[in-house]
Amino acid sequence: MAKRYLIKSGIVITLDDPARDGKVLDLLIEDRWIRAVGPNLSVPDAEVVDASGMIVIPGLVDTHRHIWESVIRNVGAEWSLTTYLRHLYYGGLGGTLRPQDVYIANLWGALEAINSGVTTVLDWSMVNSPEHADALIQGLEEASIRAVFAYGTPLLGAGAFWSRDSQLRHPEDARRVKQRYFSSSDQLLTMGLAIRGPEFCAWETALADIALARELQAICTMHLGFGTWGPHDHSIRRLEEAGVLGPDLNFVHCNTLQPDEYRRIADHGCSVSVTPEIEMLMGHGYPCTGFLVEQGAVTTLGVDVVTSIAGDLFTQMRMALAAERARVNNQTLAQGVMPEQLALNARTILQCATTHGARALGLEDKVGSLAVGKEADLVLLRATDFNLFPVNDPLGAVVTSAGPHNVDTVFIAGRPVKRHGQLVGVDLPRIRQMVEATRDYILSQYTGLEGIAPQSLANAVQA
Ligand SMILES: [Zn+2]
Repeated sequence: MAKRYLIKSGIVITLDDPARDGKVLDLLIEDRWIRAVGPNLSVPDAEVVDASGMIVIPGLVDTHRHIWESVIRNVGAEWSLTTYLRHLYYGGLGGTLRPQDVYIANLWGALEAINSGVTTVLDWSMVNSPEHADALIQGLEEASIRAVFAYGTPLLGAGAFWSRDSQLRHPEDARRVKQRYFSSSDQLLTMGLAIRGPEFCAWETALADIALARELQAICTMHLGFGTWGPHDHSIRRLEEAGVLGPDLNFVHCNTLQPDEYRRIADHGCSVSVTPEIEMLMGHGYPCTGFLVEQGAVTTLGVDVVTSIAGDLFTQMRMALAAERARVNNQTLAQGVMPEQLALNARTILQCATTHGARALGLEDKVGSLAVGKEADLVLLRATDFNLFPVNDPLGAVVTSAGPHNVDTVFIAGRPVKRHGQLVGVDLPRIRQMVEATRDYILSQYTGLEGIAPQSLANAVQA
């Protein structure tokens, strides 16, 4: 018989029906799916999950994260983007990784995401070999996260791949991976292709890579328009002229595009991943959230890298909101006027982190909102915690105040993966030991990191 859960008496934000959002409702989950949403549902044979005192939201969707970097977390507090690229891409750190390292790295990073209420993530993966690809996927699989595994070029010898005139094509191994792991789209893991795009390889190479993504029916994601790349490239305009813009293309950052290019992105239903905190910290440029929203583009959020920041989307929602309001408020102030109306609103930002993210990843029929017929990816936030209690504006509270510490329960595809603040069925002491072993190995092979002070704690927490 089908497994049924009744999520009882939560303050529910469906992002499906605005009239109901913020009301006390029940949700019925059957197998993978949401079967009913309403007040006082009575389902005798369902296991009841008491959500009283909780705010229930759709699972968060992170559309841009290099998950493997979980094992070198926080090494880059002082790193600019160029420092980061020098160490990881061109300096050799990324080349030290063995398959077992990227397996544990992806597992740890995916568990971090789940723990903080991220139920879907696009893993913008750099793949050193077919064995690495298998291990990266295994890590995601074991975490039981919903993910797009976006297959990228190798970190080992990245310089040959990532140059303006590179004619090296995307690794052919992507075809094997598609066949072996992604022949069905009716599963938690789906396929993406993480290509370099027109600003990091030759133009013909970029077009060929996009064609490969389409052949594999994979979401095609590329970094574009940030730092000193972009302002003079008119990449979006050129891609439109080449007739290749479409909803399966995801552009990352886009800080330096021309105004008309944001419109072109929206016109063709392409999505953009804004990673506001990293962009502001590391030198990508100013987050473009407002320009995208203004054009009605599919605007989404991502953590990007945990070498400098934490891996939760609550922070990114706040960063995006604050950055955009600061930008617009400053324009008003420059005219000698106090800002009255504020740019963006909380609902829009939460949509960026849920429904828009799902759309960007081709998963809008499955997740992104709490609607009957969708798969049950949802998060219960403890509303009795200091930062949320008393509850006055549930949606506003989620966007302006919530954090990973409020995440009590997480369901992915109808399965509880976190309950009562603890991940379900995860041997954390064992995993921590493996994470440290990998971290130690990487640092023994790559000695270019200065000023960091790695510590061993796995045994301490086990004791
Ligand atoms: Zn990135």
